[in-house]
Amino acid sequence: MNSRIPQSVIFVSREDDPGVLSLAAQFLCASGGCGDCYDCRHAHSGTHPDLKIISVPDGKAEIPVDSVRTMIRDASEYPAVSQASVFLIQNSDCLNASAQNALLKIIEEPPDYCRFILQTESPGRLLPTVRSRCAMLRGQGADLAAKTAQPNEKLAIELAALCAGGKKADMLALSYELEKLPRGEIAAFIALVREKAAELLVRRVIKNSDCAKLAALLASCDECDELLSGGTGTRHIAARLSVM
Ligand SMILES: [Zn+2]
Repeated sequence: MNSRIPQSVIFVSREDDPGVLSLAAQFLCASGGCGDCYDCRHAHSGTHPDLKIISVPDGKAEIPVDSVRTMIRDASEYPAVSQASVFLIQNSDCLNASAQNALLKIIEEPPDYCRFILQTESPGRLLPTVRSRCAMLRGQGADLAAKTAQPNEKLAIELAALCAGGKKADMLALSYELEKLPRGEIAAFIALVREKAAELLVRRVIKNSDCAKLAALLASCDECDELLSGGTGTRHIAARLSVM
């Protein structure tokens, strides 16, 4: 598996978004989520023995640290029937501060077979240290966030999508747009491209699709950070980012 792919995913959606359990099925199913096998059927119904669901206890407002400690104990055991142990934390923004800190340890160095899905409607309420160790995916209910994306974010989403599979003419047009970015916004833009490319890459790895171009884009981002600090012009950086 690609070493850049985090085993932990923040899934921005409502609690009942079917995409959450679909993602769990993709992790559990040996065919990446065929929809038909034992793993998929039981993941979709939330009854898979290797899918552990952590949620806010009845009558409580937050997820206590004890729930995370139990999860860490469970994570030390191999999956019972499938290739992965998936831990789904519903409304993960309700993890209290000590629970999030306990979580950090396991998502920093998880056992190979473990996958963590942190479902939340408000990713901003998770600690930055937790967010930085996870890839972010958005479910259907999170379209609002995409619609309110800032112009540079839209540009970054478009760039990653074109790189993954678009027309050369569209990429050329985008490249001209990039050249117009103010110098002071380039570093933040490269960070956005890295985030959006990583997001797409996770989706592709899950589906066993080709990842080479997105991996190359991530490498370009690292290179462009260096070029930028070395004083290279915006035009060259735009050209380096918009290859496909
Ligand atoms: Zn399946």
